[in-house]
Amino acid sequence: MEKCLLIRYGEIYLKGKNRKFFENLLENNIQNAANPYNAVVSRIPGRFLLTGYKASDEKALISCMKKQAGIFSLSDAYCIDSNLNAITDLAVSLMQDEEGTFKVETNRADKTFPLNSMEISSHVGGKILEKNKNLKVDVISPEKKINIDIRENKKTYIFKDTIMGVGGMPVGCSGDGLLLLSGGIDSPVAGYMMAKRGAKLHAIHFHSFPYTSELARLKVEELAKKLAEYNAGDLEVYMCSMTHYQEEINKNCKSDYNITLLRRAMFKIAERLCKEKGFKMIITGESLGQVASQTIESMTVVGNIVKDTQIMRPLIAFDKNETIEISRKIDCYDISIRPYEDCCTIFVPKSPVIKPRLENVEAQEKLIAFDLLVDEAYSTIEKVVIKAKEK
Ligand code: ATP
Ligand code: MG
Repeated sequence: MEKCLLIRYGEIYLKGKNRKFFENLLENNIQNAANPYNAVVSRIPGRFLLTGYKASDEKALISCMKKQAGIFSLSDAYCIDSNLNAITDLAVSLMQDEEGTFKVETNRADKTFPLNSMEISSHVGGKILEKNKNLKVDVISPEKKINIDIRENKKTYIFKDTIMGVGGMPVGCSGDGLLLLSGGIDSPVAGYMMAKRGAKLHAIHFHSFPYTSELARLKVEELAKKLAEYNAGDLEVYMCSMTHYQEEINKNCKSDYNITLLRRAMFKIAERLCKEKGFKMIITGESLGQVASQTIESMTVVGNIVKDTQIMRPLIAFDKNETIEISRKIDCYDISIRPYEDCCTIFVPKSPVIKPRLENVEAQEKLIAFDLLVDEAYSTIEKVVIKAKEK
Protein backbone atom coordinates (compact mmCIF):
# COMPACT_ATOMS: atom_id res chain seq x y z
CA MET A 1 0.00 0.00 0.00
CA GLU A 2 1.36 3.38 -0.94
CA LYS A 3 0.17 6.94 -0.39
CA CYS A 4 -0.10 9.04 -3.55
CA LEU A 5 -1.76 12.10 -5.07
CA LEU A 6 -4.15 11.11 -7.82
CA ILE A 7 -4.38 13.94 -10.36
CA ARG A 8 -7.18 14.35 -12.90
CA TYR A 9 -7.07 16.68 -15.83
CA GLY A 10 -10.02 18.26 -17.53
CA GLU A 11 -10.08 19.88 -20.93
CA ILE A 12 -6.92 18.20 -22.22
CA TYR A 13 -8.98 15.08 -22.33
CA LEU A 14 -10.88 16.52 -25.28
CA LYS A 15 -7.80 17.18 -27.36
CA GLY A 16 -7.86 14.20 -29.72
CA LYS A 17 -4.67 13.87 -31.76
CA ASN A 18 -2.91 16.72 -29.91
CA ARG A 19 -3.50 15.21 -26.51
CA LYS A 20 0.08 13.91 -26.18
CA PHE A 21 1.49 17.44 -26.45
CA PHE A 22 -0.79 18.74 -23.69
CA GLU A 23 -0.19 15.72 -21.46
CA ASN A 24 3.59 16.01 -21.81
CA LEU A 25 3.51 19.71 -20.99
CA LEU A 26 1.29 19.20 -17.94
CA GLU A 27 3.47 16.32 -16.73
CA ASN A 28 6.52 18.53 -17.05
CA ASN A 29 4.86 21.41 -15.17
CA ILE A 30 3.70 19.07 -12.40
CA GLN A 31 7.18 17.54 -12.06
CA ASN A 32 8.86 20.96 -11.85
CA ALA A 33 6.39 22.11 -9.20
CA ALA A 34 6.83 18.84 -7.26
CA ASN A 35 10.65 18.90 -7.25
CA PRO A 36 11.01 20.84 -3.97
CA TYR A 37 9.00 18.06 -2.30
CA ASN A 38 11.08 15.25 -3.87
CA ALA A 39 7.85 13.89 -5.33
CA VAL A 40 7.90 11.98 -8.61
CA VAL A 41 5.21 12.18 -11.25
CA SER A 42 4.12 9.13 -13.23
CA ARG A 43 1.27 8.36 -15.60
CA ILE A 44 -1.53 5.89 -15.64
CA PRO A 45 -4.22 6.00 -18.33
CA GLY A 46 -6.23 9.21 -17.86
CA ARG A 47 -4.49 10.27 -14.62
CA PHE A 48 -1.17 11.43 -13.20
CA LEU A 49 0.25 10.20 -9.91
CA LEU A 50 2.61 11.86 -7.49
CA THR A 51 4.52 9.60 -5.11
CA GLY A 52 7.64 9.59 -2.94
CA TYR A 53 6.90 12.72 -0.88
CA LYS A 54 7.05 12.95 2.91
CA ALA A 55 3.73 12.74 4.78
CA SER A 56 4.59 16.04 6.47
CA ASP A 57 4.75 17.71 3.02
CA GLU A 58 1.41 16.41 1.80
CA LYS A 59 -0.64 19.50 2.66
CA ALA A 60 1.82 21.90 1.04
CA LEU A 61 2.15 19.69 -2.02
CA ILE A 62 -1.64 19.63 -2.47
CA SER A 63 -1.83 23.39 -2.17
CA CYS A 64 0.94 23.72 -4.77
CA MET A 65 -0.83 21.32 -7.17
CA LYS A 66 -4.10 23.25 -6.78
CA LYS A 67 -2.32 26.11 -8.54
CA GLN A 68 -1.12 24.20 -11.60
CA ALA A 69 -3.28 25.13 -14.58
CA GLY A 70 -4.57 22.07 -16.40
CA ILE A 71 -5.28 20.08 -13.22
CA PHE A 72 -9.02 19.60 -12.85
CA SER A 73 -9.04 17.90 -9.44
CA LEU A 74 -6.88 15.81 -7.15
CA SER A 75 -7.22 13.40 -4.25
CA ASP A 76 -4.82 12.09 -1.68
CA ALA A 77 -5.25 8.37 -2.10
CA TYR A 78 -4.01 4.97 -1.06
CA CYS A 79 -2.85 2.71 -3.85
CA ILE A 80 -3.23 -1.09 -3.68
CA ASP A 81 -3.44 -4.04 -6.08
CA SER A 82 -6.89 -4.48 -7.60
CA ASN A 83 -8.10 -7.34 -5.46
CA LEU A 84 -11.55 -7.34 -3.87
CA ASN A 85 -10.42 -8.49 -0.42
CA ALA A 86 -7.59 -5.97 -0.27
CA ILE A 87 -9.89 -3.18 -1.45
CA THR A 88 -12.53 -4.10 1.11
CA ASP A 89 -10.05 -4.32 4.02
CA LEU A 90 -8.54 -0.95 3.21
CA ALA A 91 -11.95 0.75 2.79
CA VAL A 92 -13.13 -0.73 6.10
CA SER A 93 -10.03 0.50 7.92
CA LEU A 94 -10.31 4.00 6.41
CA MET A 95 -13.91 4.23 7.63
CA GLN A 96 -13.40 2.73 11.08
CA ASP A 97 -13.46 6.03 13.00
CA GLU A 98 -16.19 7.72 10.97
CA GLU A 99 -19.78 8.21 12.06
CA GLY A 100 -22.98 9.46 10.43
CA THR A 101 -24.09 8.63 6.91
CA PHE A 102 -21.88 7.44 4.07
CA LYS A 103 -21.77 6.11 0.57
CA VAL A 104 -19.25 4.00 -1.36
CA GLU A 105 -18.66 5.29 -4.88
CA THR A 106 -16.87 3.01 -7.31
CA ASN A 107 -15.39 3.82 -10.68
CA ARG A 108 -14.32 0.71 -12.62
CA ALA A 109 -12.08 1.84 -15.50
CA ASP A 110 -10.67 -1.72 -15.64
CA LYS A 111 -13.56 -3.61 -17.23
CA THR A 112 -11.80 -6.95 -16.61
CA PHE A 113 -12.34 -6.61 -12.86
CA PRO A 114 -14.85 -9.40 -12.06
CA LEU A 115 -17.54 -7.33 -10.28
CA ASN A 116 -19.23 -4.26 -11.73
CA SER A 117 -19.14 -0.95 -9.87
CA MET A 118 -22.60 -1.37 -8.25
CA GLU A 119 -21.62 -4.79 -6.96
CA ILE A 120 -18.30 -3.54 -5.60
CA SER A 121 -19.95 -0.59 -3.81
CA SER A 122 -22.58 -2.78 -2.22
CA HIS A 123 -20.06 -5.46 -1.17
CA VAL A 124 -17.64 -2.94 0.37
CA GLY A 125 -20.49 -0.88 1.88
CA GLY A 126 -21.87 -4.01 3.56
CA LYS A 127 -18.50 -4.84 5.13
CA ILE A 128 -18.04 -1.25 6.36
CA LEU A 129 -21.47 -1.42 8.05
CA GLU A 130 -20.62 -4.76 9.66
CA LYS A 131 -17.49 -3.34 11.29
CA ASN A 132 -18.68 0.16 12.20
CA LYS A 133 -22.03 0.43 13.96
CA ASN A 134 -21.86 4.25 13.98
CA LEU A 135 -22.39 4.48 10.22
CA LYS A 136 -25.54 4.36 8.09
CA VAL A 137 -25.79 4.27 4.31
CA ASP A 138 -27.27 7.27 2.49
CA VAL A 139 -26.76 7.14 -1.28
CA ILE A 140 -28.56 10.45 -1.98
CA SER A 141 -26.82 12.95 0.33
CA PRO A 142 -24.19 11.18 2.39
CA GLU A 143 -22.07 13.09 4.93
CA LYS A 144 -19.01 11.01 4.03
CA LYS A 145 -17.89 9.33 0.85
CA ILE A 146 -15.33 6.68 0.19
CA ASN A 147 -14.23 6.41 -3.42
CA ILE A 148 -12.80 3.35 -5.12
CA ASP A 149 -11.12 3.97 -8.47
CA ILE A 150 -10.15 0.69 -10.19
CA ARG A 151 -7.74 1.60 -12.99
CA GLU A 152 -6.50 -0.27 -16.06
CA ASN A 153 -3.00 -0.71 -14.54
CA LYS A 154 -4.47 -3.33 -12.12
CA LYS A 155 -4.12 -0.84 -9.28
CA THR A 156 -6.92 0.62 -7.22
CA TYR A 157 -6.92 4.07 -5.65
CA ILE A 158 -9.02 4.63 -2.56
CA PHE A 159 -9.72 8.13 -1.24
CA LYS A 160 -12.24 10.17 0.69
CA ASP A 161 -11.94 13.70 -0.72
CA THR A 162 -11.74 15.33 -4.12
CA ILE A 163 -10.11 18.74 -4.15
CA MET A 164 -10.78 21.04 -7.09
CA GLY A 165 -7.81 22.45 -9.01
CA VAL A 166 -7.52 25.57 -11.16
CA GLY A 167 -8.74 23.73 -14.27
CA GLY A 168 -7.95 25.17 -17.69
CA MET A 169 -4.91 24.32 -19.80
CA PRO A 170 -1.25 23.77 -18.83
CA VAL A 171 0.88 26.90 -18.71
CA GLY A 172 2.87 27.23 -21.91
CA CYS A 173 0.42 25.62 -24.32
CA SER A 174 -0.97 28.99 -25.48
CA GLY A 175 2.36 30.76 -25.97
CA ASP A 176 3.88 33.67 -24.04
CA GLY A 177 1.95 36.75 -22.99
CA LEU A 178 3.02 40.14 -21.65
CA LEU A 179 0.85 41.26 -18.73
CA LEU A 180 0.58 44.98 -18.07
CA LEU A 181 0.94 44.70 -14.31
CA SER A 182 0.01 47.68 -12.16
CA GLY A 183 -0.20 47.48 -8.38
CA GLY A 184 -3.99 47.40 -8.49
CA ILE A 185 -6.60 44.69 -8.10
CA ASP A 186 -7.43 43.99 -11.73
CA SER A 187 -4.19 43.23 -13.51
CA PRO A 188 -3.01 40.30 -11.32
CA VAL A 189 -6.45 38.73 -11.78
CA ALA A 190 -6.18 39.21 -15.55
CA GLY A 191 -2.79 37.47 -15.47
CA TYR A 192 -4.17 34.56 -13.47
CA MET A 193 -7.07 34.14 -15.91
CA MET A 194 -4.70 33.93 -18.87
CA ALA A 195 -2.23 31.58 -17.13
CA LYS A 196 -5.24 29.35 -16.51
CA ARG A 197 -5.80 29.28 -20.28
CA GLY A 198 -2.23 28.18 -20.88
CA ALA A 199 -0.39 31.49 -21.39
CA LYS A 200 3.11 31.65 -19.95
CA LEU A 201 3.13 35.07 -18.31
CA HIS A 202 5.75 37.78 -18.39
CA ALA A 203 4.94 41.20 -16.98
CA ILE A 204 5.77 44.81 -17.59
CA HIS A 205 5.34 47.45 -14.92
CA PHE A 206 5.54 51.15 -15.71
CA HIS A 207 6.70 53.45 -12.95
CA SER A 208 7.51 57.10 -12.60
CA PHE A 209 10.25 57.01 -10.03
CA PRO A 210 10.79 59.27 -8.02
CA TYR A 211 7.15 60.42 -8.36
CA THR A 212 6.21 56.81 -7.62
CA SER A 213 8.01 55.25 -4.68
CA GLU A 214 10.25 52.27 -4.10
CA LEU A 215 7.38 50.80 -2.03
CA ALA A 216 5.14 50.80 -5.11
CA ARG A 217 7.77 48.73 -6.92
CA LEU A 218 8.06 46.27 -4.01
CA LYS A 219 4.30 45.86 -4.04
CA VAL A 220 4.38 44.91 -7.71
CA GLU A 221 7.14 42.39 -6.98
CA GLU A 222 5.02 40.85 -4.21
CA LEU A 223 2.07 40.52 -6.57
CA ALA A 224 4.37 38.96 -9.14
CA LYS A 225 5.49 36.41 -6.53
CA LYS A 226 1.89 35.33 -5.98
CA LEU A 227 1.25 35.13 -9.72
CA ALA A 228 4.43 33.11 -10.25
CA GLU A 229 2.82 30.24 -8.32
CA TYR A 230 0.30 29.92 -11.17
CA ASN A 231 2.88 30.47 -13.87
CA ALA A 232 4.91 27.27 -13.80
CA GLY A 233 7.29 28.64 -11.20
CA ASP A 234 8.58 32.05 -12.14
CA LEU A 235 7.63 35.36 -13.66
CA GLU A 236 9.88 37.82 -15.45
CA VAL A 237 8.94 41.40 -14.66
CA TYR A 238 10.19 44.21 -16.90
CA MET A 239 10.38 47.54 -15.07
CA CYS A 240 10.08 50.57 -17.33
CA SER A 241 10.41 54.24 -16.37
CA MET A 242 7.84 56.67 -17.81
CA THR A 243 9.16 59.62 -15.77
CA HIS A 244 10.58 61.74 -18.58
CA TYR A 245 7.71 60.94 -20.96
CA GLN A 246 5.16 61.98 -18.33
CA GLU A 247 7.05 65.18 -17.53
CA GLU A 248 7.04 66.05 -21.22
CA ILE A 249 3.31 65.42 -21.78
CA ASN A 250 2.55 67.26 -18.58
CA LYS A 251 4.53 70.27 -19.79
CA ASN A 252 3.47 70.31 -23.45
CA CYS A 253 0.11 68.61 -23.97
CA LYS A 254 -3.47 69.34 -23.03
CA SER A 255 -3.90 67.85 -19.57
CA ASP A 256 -7.22 66.15 -20.41
CA TYR A 257 -5.24 63.84 -22.69
CA ASN A 258 -2.58 62.85 -20.11
CA ILE A 259 -3.95 59.39 -19.42
CA THR A 260 -4.69 58.60 -23.06
CA LEU A 261 -1.20 59.67 -24.09
CA LEU A 262 0.39 57.71 -21.27
CA ARG A 263 -1.50 54.57 -22.13
CA ARG A 264 -0.69 54.78 -25.83
CA ALA A 265 3.02 54.96 -24.97
CA MET A 266 2.64 52.00 -22.59
CA PHE A 267 1.02 49.89 -25.30
CA LYS A 268 3.61 50.91 -27.88
CA ILE A 269 6.40 49.87 -25.54
CA ALA A 270 4.57 46.65 -24.66
CA GLU A 271 4.21 45.68 -28.32
CA ARG A 272 7.86 46.42 -28.98
CA LEU A 273 8.89 44.17 -26.08
CA CYS A 274 6.55 41.43 -27.35
CA LYS A 275 8.21 41.57 -30.78
CA GLU A 276 11.70 41.52 -29.30
CA LYS A 277 11.00 38.58 -26.98
CA GLY A 278 8.59 36.61 -29.16
CA PHE A 279 5.60 37.11 -26.84
CA LYS A 280 2.33 36.60 -28.65
CA MET A 281 -0.10 38.78 -26.72
CA ILE A 282 -0.52 41.80 -24.49
CA ILE A 283 -2.74 41.20 -21.45
CA THR A 284 -4.47 43.94 -19.46
CA GLY A 285 -6.89 44.17 -16.54
CA GLU A 286 -9.21 46.58 -18.37
CA SER A 287 -12.93 46.30 -17.80
CA LEU A 288 -15.43 48.08 -20.05
CA GLY A 289 -16.61 51.37 -18.60
CA GLN A 290 -14.63 51.06 -15.32
CA VAL A 291 -12.98 54.48 -15.68
CA ALA A 292 -12.54 57.17 -18.36
CA SER A 293 -9.63 55.31 -19.92
CA GLN A 294 -11.75 52.19 -20.35
CA THR A 295 -14.68 53.47 -22.38
CA ILE A 296 -14.94 51.82 -25.78
CA GLU A 297 -13.69 55.06 -27.40
CA SER A 298 -10.60 55.19 -25.10
CA MET A 299 -9.80 51.54 -25.62
CA THR A 300 -10.14 51.95 -29.40
CA VAL A 301 -7.77 54.94 -29.54
CA VAL A 302 -5.26 53.33 -27.20
CA GLY A 303 -5.50 49.92 -28.89
CA ASN A 304 -4.96 51.62 -32.26
CA ILE A 305 -1.26 52.11 -31.51
CA VAL A 306 -0.76 48.34 -31.32
CA LYS A 307 -0.30 47.14 -34.88
CA ASP A 308 -0.19 43.39 -34.96
CA THR A 309 -0.16 41.93 -31.48
CA GLN A 310 -3.30 40.47 -29.96
CA ILE A 311 -4.59 42.39 -26.92
CA MET A 312 -6.29 40.15 -24.35
CA ARG A 313 -8.63 41.77 -21.84
CA PRO A 314 -9.99 38.83 -19.86
CA LEU A 315 -11.85 41.08 -17.38
CA ILE A 316 -13.62 43.13 -20.02
CA ALA A 317 -17.11 42.06 -18.89
CA PHE A 318 -16.37 41.61 -15.18
CA ASP A 319 -17.95 43.69 -12.44
CA LYS A 320 -15.45 44.83 -9.81
CA ASN A 321 -16.92 42.49 -7.18
CA GLU A 322 -16.38 39.50 -9.49
CA THR A 323 -12.75 40.52 -9.95
CA ILE A 324 -12.32 41.01 -6.20
CA GLU A 325 -13.60 37.52 -5.53
CA ILE A 326 -10.87 36.03 -7.74
CA SER A 327 -8.28 38.43 -6.34
CA ARG A 328 -9.00 37.05 -2.86
CA LYS A 329 -8.90 33.49 -4.13
CA ILE A 330 -5.41 33.95 -5.55
CA ASP A 331 -4.27 35.71 -2.37
CA CYS A 332 -3.48 39.03 -4.08
CA TYR A 333 -6.25 41.19 -2.67
CA ASP A 334 -4.57 42.21 0.60
CA ILE A 335 -1.46 43.24 -1.31
CA SER A 336 -3.40 45.05 -4.05
CA ILE A 337 -5.37 47.25 -1.66
CA ARG A 338 -2.28 48.67 0.04
CA PRO A 339 -2.21 52.36 -0.78
CA TYR A 340 0.29 53.27 -3.45
CA GLU A 341 0.84 55.69 -6.27
CA ASP A 342 0.84 54.42 -9.81
CA CYS A 343 2.16 56.33 -12.79
CA CYS A 344 -1.51 56.56 -13.87
CA THR A 345 -2.40 58.36 -10.64
CA ILE A 346 0.18 61.13 -10.86
CA PHE A 347 -0.37 64.17 -13.10
CA VAL A 348 -4.04 63.16 -13.19
CA PRO A 349 -6.17 65.64 -15.15
CA LYS A 350 -9.27 67.18 -13.55
CA SER A 351 -11.47 66.08 -16.40
CA PRO A 352 -9.86 63.32 -18.46
CA VAL A 353 -11.22 62.96 -21.95
CA ILE A 354 -13.80 60.18 -21.95
CA LYS A 355 -14.38 59.81 -25.69
CA PRO A 356 -11.02 60.70 -27.27
CA ARG A 357 -10.78 61.02 -31.06
CA LEU A 358 -7.73 59.55 -32.73
CA GLU A 359 -6.87 62.70 -34.74
CA ASN A 360 -6.94 64.87 -31.61
CA VAL A 361 -4.72 62.45 -29.72
CA GLU A 362 -2.24 62.27 -32.62
CA ALA A 363 -2.18 66.06 -32.73
CA GLN A 364 -1.20 66.09 -29.05
CA GLU A 365 1.56 63.55 -29.73
CA LYS A 366 3.00 65.91 -32.36
CA LEU A 367 3.59 68.48 -29.57
CA ILE A 368 6.29 66.24 -28.06
CA ALA A 369 9.08 64.11 -29.51
CA PHE A 370 6.82 61.09 -29.14
CA ASP A 371 8.99 58.46 -30.86
CA LEU A 372 12.20 59.62 -29.19
CA LEU A 373 10.58 59.68 -25.76
CA VAL A 374 9.18 56.19 -26.29
CA ASP A 375 12.66 54.99 -27.35
CA GLU A 376 14.12 56.58 -24.27
CA ALA A 377 11.55 54.93 -21.97
CA TYR A 378 12.16 51.60 -23.69
CA SER A 379 15.88 51.87 -23.02
CA THR A 380 15.22 52.11 -19.26
CA ILE A 381 13.70 48.61 -19.11
CA GLU A 382 15.26 46.33 -16.51
CA LYS A 383 14.33 42.69 -16.06
CA VAL A 384 13.69 41.17 -12.63
CA VAL A 385 13.01 37.44 -12.37
CA ILE A 386 10.55 36.67 -9.60
CA LYS A 387 10.45 33.08 -8.34
CA ALA A 388 7.41 31.53 -6.70
CA LYS A 389 7.96 30.72 -3.05
CA GLU A 390 9.26 27.18 -2.67
CA LYS A 391 7.51 24.88 -0.16
P1 ATP B 1 -5.73 47.43 -11.80
O1 ATP B 1 -6.51 47.49 -13.07
O2 ATP B 1 -4.59 46.52 -11.86
O3 ATP B 1 -6.57 47.29 -10.59
P2 ATP B 1 -6.02 50.08 -11.95
O4 ATP B 1 -7.46 49.73 -12.02
O5 ATP B 1 -5.53 51.12 -11.03
O6 ATP B 1 -5.18 48.84 -11.63
P3 ATP B 1 -6.36 51.01 -14.51
O7 ATP B 1 -6.14 52.45 -14.59
O8 ATP B 1 -7.72 50.44 -14.44
O9 ATP B 1 -5.51 50.42 -13.36
O10 ATP B 1 -5.56 50.38 -15.71
C1 ATP B 1 -6.08 49.40 -16.54
C2 ATP B 1 -5.02 48.40 -16.90
O11 ATP B 1 -3.87 49.05 -17.47
C3 ATP B 1 -4.49 47.66 -15.71
O12 ATP B 1 -5.30 46.56 -15.38
C4 ATP B 1 -3.14 47.22 -16.21
O13 ATP B 1 -3.24 46.08 -17.06
C5 ATP B 1 -2.69 48.41 -17.05
N1 ATP B 1 -1.88 49.33 -16.22
C6 ATP B 1 -2.27 50.43 -15.55
N2 ATP B 1 -1.24 51.00 -14.89
C7 ATP B 1 -0.15 50.27 -15.18
C8 ATP B 1 1.23 50.33 -14.81
N3 ATP B 1 1.71 51.28 -14.01
N4 ATP B 1 2.07 49.39 -15.29
C9 ATP B 1 1.63 48.42 -16.09
N5 ATP B 1 0.34 48.29 -16.46
C10 ATP B 1 -0.54 49.20 -16.02
MG1 MG C 1 -8.61 48.69 -13.35
